[in-house]
Amino acid sequence: MEFIDLKTQLQELRPEVDRAISKVLDHGQFILGPEVQELEKELADFANVPNCITCANGTDALVLALRALGIGRGDAVIVPTFTFAATAESVCNAGATPIFVDVQSDTYNIDPESIETAIETAIQNQLTPRAIISVDLFGLPADYARLSELAKAHNLKLIADAAQSFGAKAYEKPVGSLANVTTTSFFPAKPLGCYGDGGAVFTQDQEVANQIKSLRVHGKGADKYDNISIGYNSRLDTLQAAILLVKLSRLTSEIAKKDVVAKQYSQRLSEKLSEVLTTPNVINSSKSAWAQYTVQCDPKHRQAVTAFLKDKGIPTAIYYPTPLHKSTAYKHYPKAGATLPNADLLAQSVFSLPMHAYLSDENIDLVVSTLEAFDWK
Ligand SMILES: *Cc1c(COP(=O)(O)O)cnc(C)c1O
Repeated sequence: MEFIDLKTQLQELRPEVDRAISKVLDHGQFILGPEVQELEKELADFANVPNCITCANGTDALVLALRALGIGRGDAVIVPTFTFAATAESVCNAGATPIFVDVQSDTYNIDPESIETAIETAIQNQLTPRAIISVDLFGLPADYARLSELAKAHNLKLIADAAQSFGAKAYEKPVGSLANVTTTSFFPAKPLGCYGDGGAVFTQDQEVANQIKSLRVHGKGADKYDNISIGYNSRLDTLQAAILLVKLSRLTSEIAKKDVVAKQYSQRLSEKLSEVLTTPNVINSSKSAWAQYTVQCDPKHRQAVTAFLKDKGIPTAIYYPTPLHKSTAYKHYPKAGATLPNADLLAQSVFSLPMHAYLSDENIDLVVSTLEAFDWK
C-alpha cells in the first residue's frame, strides 16, 4: 500500500505529461518559458487573486514573500511551532526572528488566542512585530477570519503558508485569497506536486507581486543588468510548469476523492475506536486539501501501533516528532509562553495514515481492521 500514491497518478497522466514535456524540449525556453506564464495565469484564476508568481520551491516562496513585504533584521514574525522547519527557516533567512506560538489542540493550526502574547514577547525582545505566518497544517485552512482581524488590529501582515493546502477552501473562498500573501510548494508529495521542486506566491497586492518578480531574478530592474535589490535565483523550471498544468487539471477531482476517503476513515474509526483514536477535526466552514490524514493516540501506544501497521504492510508517517521550539536549530528563539503544551502533546501523539485519491475500499478496510486488531490496552 502506498502512503501517497504518485505512481498510479502518473500512470493515468503519462500520455499528457509526456506530450507536455516534449513540447518544452521542442521550443527550448527552459527558463520562464510560455508554460510558466500560462501556469501562473491558471493558478491565479484558481486561487481567485490577480497575481501568482512561481518560484523554485515553497521555502523560497516564503522568503520572497517576507522580503517583498520589507521584513528583515529587527523584525519579529509569529510562527506556529508545530510545522515543517521551512516555515521558521524562511524567517531566519530573511534576517528576521521567529516567535513561536502554540497550536490549537483540535485543528493543529496556529492558535489565534496566542497572537497577543507573541506580540508582547516580540516587544520584550526589542523586536518589531511585523507579520504572522499561519500554516494550513495537513491541508486544513487556519482560522483566517480571526487571524485577519488580529492582523489588522495590530498592524501585522498575514502570510499563509499553504504548502499543504493548495486546493483547500475556507468560507467558500479558495486558499490563496485568504491572507495578504499566500505561499505554496509543489514538492512532489504535496496536494499539487510537480516532478522536482517548485513553489508559488499569491497576492492581491500589485506592489508585492512586482517586488517578487524582481527578487526571483536577482533583484532585476527594468533592465536585466540594472539590479535594484539583492535578490535570488528562484524560478520555476518551464518543464515543471508544463507538468503542473497537467496536474492542476486534476486537482479538484483528486481532492474530492480524498474527501470521500477521509469521510470513510473518520466514520469507521469514530464508530469503533473513538476511545483510543482522535480523528481529524473537520470544520464546517472549511474544505481540507487532505495533504495528510492524521490521527492522535495515547503517546504510550504510538510506537507499537505504527510498528503493527507497518508489519501488515501499511505505511504511516509522523509529522512532526519535534515541535520547532524544541529542535536544535530553533530552541533558542523566543516563544509566546513558558511552554507550548498543545504542540508538545501532538508531537508525541500524532501519526498519519495512507491518504491519496487512489486508495481502494479494500485498503481502507485493511487500515481500519488492522487498527481494530491492535491491542489498545
Ligand atoms: C513542504 C513545506 C514547505 C516547504 O516547501 P518546499 O517546496 O519543500 O521548500 C513549507 N512549509 C510547509 C508547511 C511545508 O509542508
